[in-house]
Amino acid sequence: MTKVYKVNEIFYSLQGEGANAGTPAIFVRFAGCNLRCPFCDTVHEAAQAMSCADIIAAVSQWDATLVVLTGGEPTLQATPQLINALHEAGRTVAIETNGTRPVPAGCDWVTLSPKTDVCPGAAPILTECDELKIVFQGEVVPTYTDIRAKYRFLQPCDTGDSERNASLRDAAVRYCLAHPQWRLSVQLHKILNIP
Ligand code: SF4
Repeated sequence: MTKVYKVNEIFYSLQGEGANAGTPAIFVRFAGCNLRCPFCDTVHEAAQAMSCADIIAAVSQWDATLVVLTGGEPTLQATPQLINALHEAGRTVAIETNGTRPVPAGCDWVTLSPKTDVCPGAAPILTECDELKIVFQGEVVPTYTDIRAKYRFLQPCDTGDSERNASLRDAAVRYCLAHPQWRLSVQLHKILNIP
């Protein structure tokens, strides 16, 4: 039987966060998440049913090499078959996960953004990734020293309050300067108002 994926949206933009910030990318946003973070600002519940071939056809509208599987929580749905099909279509596959579930085989880049500090039961099971991204809310930074990562990013939380955001940004800058194994990640697409 043909596997059906519940896809919230597929769109083309610049990656706004982390080591690939500024890179043109095709985003496949899967519907649904296994966590309920209080600061979640991602609209991901609405879904359309798509086959692997439908997703490849949608992705093929754009020439960019990088495809980012996101959500929601993409590991609830992404499969090695889909990743293989994207590779056959000449794409590089990144996945953005909360780390509570195994990542499907074949991903070229894993962004792990654990939510242990805000969601009970959200401890990551992944022990390595390409980039670790912590959403900084002004509390003690959970450093996840047991997780191996090429890059460690601290990203100030977007609270919707400009004064609070400025305070978090300044505190995150201070933290990175004092702990140089961490880098600052900003949400470029929000700063530049890129859809
Ligand atoms: S893990 Fe991500 S998508 Fe899921 S609730 Fe938390 S912030 Fe939202």
